[in-house]
Amino acid sequence: MSANRREFIKFVVAGAVTAGCPIDLSLVAAQTGDAQKSHAADVDGEDNRICHQVRDGKVFTRPPASARHDVVIVGGGVSGLTAAYRLQHRDFLLLEKEPHWGGNAYGMEYEGSTYATGSAFLAKDEYAYHFAKEIGLEPLPVNSPDASIIRGELVPDTWGEGLSKLPYSPSVRESFKKFKKEMLAIDVEKRGKELFDKPFTDFMKGYPGEIKQWWDNFGPSNWGATSEETAAGIAILALQEMVEESRTDDRYTWPGGLGAVTKKLADILQPKCKDRMQRGATTVAVVSEKEGVQVTYTLGGELKTVAAKAVIMATPKFITRRIVEGLPEMQSEAMHQIRYIPYPVVNLIFDKPVFNHGYDTWCPGNTFTDFVVADWVIQKHPGYQQKFNILSCYTPMKEEDRGYLLNEIGARKIAANVLSDFQKLMPALNVDPVEVHIYRRGHPLYMSTPGLYTRVQPLARHPMDRVFFANTDSEGPESTTNEGIRAAQRAVKEVEMRLAGRPEPKQTAVAG
Ligand SMILES: Cc1cc2nc3c(=O)[nH]c(=O)nc-3n(C[C@H](O)[C@H](O)[C@H](O)COP(=O)(O)OP(=O)(O)OC[C@H]3O[C@@H](n4cnc5c(N)ncnc54)[C@H](O)[C@@H]3O)c2cc1C
Repeated sequence: MSANRREFIKFVVAGAVTAGCPIDLSLVAAQTGDAQKSHAADVDGEDNRICHQVRDGKVFTRPPASARHDVVIVGGGVSGLTAAYRLQHRDFLLLEKEPHWGGNAYGMEYEGSTYATGSAFLAKDEYAYHFAKEIGLEPLPVNSPDASIIRGELVPDTWGEGLSKLPYSPSVRESFKKFKKEMLAIDVEKRGKELFDKPFTDFMKGYPGEIKQWWDNFGPSNWGATSEETAAGIAILALQEMVEESRTDDRYTWPGGLGAVTKKLADILQPKCKDRMQRGATTVAVVSEKEGVQVTYTLGGELKTVAAKAVIMATPKFITRRIVEGLPEMQSEAMHQIRYIPYPVVNLIFDKPVFNHGYDTWCPGNTFTDFVVADWVIQKHPGYQQKFNILSCYTPMKEEDRGYLLNEIGARKIAANVLSDFQKLMPALNVDPVEVHIYRRGHPLYMSTPGLYTRVQPLARHPMDRVFFANTDSEGPESTTNEGIRAAQRAVKEVEMRLAGRPEPKQTAVAG
């Protein structure tokens, strides 16, 4: 795409970069005046100085507690919101640093059309499916096995019938089929630990590079890692599920993806618990004392401390370990071992139909890995008319490239590269969107590396007297909304037992 064509497209930059933090104020200053011009980038966010101070280990002067609660929940993503939902009978306080609820499961709107900025779908066999129903959401079926676009050709149902149509040489196509057969024959449950401790590349020896290229595209989008760094068990399970999907797709979602779940939770809780749900509140210290826990947070530029009988940390562990004082060394080290990738989502907003051939399409060899059609699950609803064709391009990045997201120029360039790669996929996709939105997150997806699920996560989630650990990164083997919900329910159970004076449940011991 020429620089001229691009100048007429409006780019909007949103989201937090330093995951503990909203974005840099200087970015907001940079966009004043020109913000509404077609070539300017809009930046939505707030001050990140507090988060940087937390990161750098600053010790805050903690004011005395001004209120008491049964449970303080830190982090208002799906995990923290679920904990609050399950603790409605208690006096809880929920603290979220961003101006909105949802964390990585958050949808936004463009002139009434909803799109995802993160989490996309869930599966029927996950607890999250039943939880969604419990809170009054009717999951909508995806019913569309994943396609790929390879060498300019759309290959529907890639790992089903698509394997015979891959635009590769006959010998490469045969290798794909052999690889699939070999992976399907593996009993993951039986060989569990071994498979979760080994890299996926151990299973690719002797196979052509095209297979690795496909997985090096799929892996980062789903679990943050290329094949060398992926625990084999997770990839083999994913392939087995994908083959099953080509028979019966058991994935469900809503327009805007799983942001629908967090929105619903917030809608249920807010009318009843408004004064116990605080946004724009960044927690900076969680300090255990004999009779309870003191939680200090900033709100509107002021520090506040509250006392709690118990605390649930629903924040990612790289933040949690900086905030919770007195963590046993091994547990803190386990948290430190969890790695997170930077992962923006670029939404291409078209005012005419451009691509409506399938829900999720994989595009190996590009700056983004796959794209999802935002309104796919309602397209066939009687009377529905698509106003905007919004395509959410998933753009996982390498850890070392995180810095590109820090400033507006870097974020805008990533979005422009995604658009340019998208337009080159097939001639029919060479269309200009009306707007391009990039939602950037610095550390949203933990990497499912070998040993993480078997050794690291059990240590990281161990309760610490009155402090309990939720968030999806407590559970594994993969970062999912389902695991965020499950982590919350486990933490709530642990809290109830602790408040009832019963001993901690037996888990992997953590020496300190
Ligand atoms: C691009 C992308 C696509 C994904 N796709 C899928 C998918 O299709 N299906 C699926 O199941 N999962 C998917 N996931 C994973 C899923 O989104 C996450 O596992 C889930 O949303 C995690 O929820 P959580 O509440 O555990 O953590 P988070 O969403 O990380 O929530 C933590 C919250 O804590 C807040 N916080 C952080 N620090 C502080 C502080 N100091 N004080 C107060 N608050 C703080 C954060 O702002 C955030 O809101 C995807 C993730 C990404 C990034």
